[in-house]
Amino acid sequence: MTAKILVSACLMGHSVRYDGASKPLIHPAIDRWREEGRLVTICPEMSAGMPVPRPPAEIASGMSGVDVLNGEAIVVENTGRDVTGEFLDAAENALALARETDCRFALLIDGSPSCGSGFVYDGTFSGARHAGQGVTAALLIKNGIEVYSDREIEALVARIDGRREPR
Ligand code: SF4
Repeated sequence: MTAKILVSACLMGHSVRYDGASKPLIHPAIDRWREEGRLVTICPEMSAGMPVPRPPAEIASGMSGVDVLNGEAIVVENTGRDVTGEFLDAAENALALARETDCRFALLIDGSPSCGSGFVYDGTFSGARHAGQGVTAALLIKNGIEVYSDREIEALVARIDGRREPR
């Protein structure tokens, strides 16, 4: 069966980021996977009803998406508004779509409080970052989906082509 890949909408060129921008990932594998019908695109935050543009949000107090799932951390906008509920809904929507479409893999943009998988920002809105996952990435990983960041696309190519072990 053709392995499907859940992809961050902003990586696919959709203008869905908090600032109204996109961050298209240009790579031959993206074109190939698109032609093969492997890509399932979602912006988790928009799926939870968050608008574009929207205030930037970070996981508070240097915590990570795993902590948010465990009820031990919150997500806040730079306005101070608690958006933890929206971020949890976003993660659940992404997981539901991955399950409906048989995605075993996800390719998500790093650094986002939803989609980050290698690092996230620390909640001070100062640009400081630390190793950790966003809420959506953490929920997908918890449920057995292999998550790769945009910086790891070569590793995902090797995995899909059977040249790399599962992570
Ligand atoms: S939630 Fe994910 S897909 Fe949506 S804008 Fe943020 S990083 Fe991109």
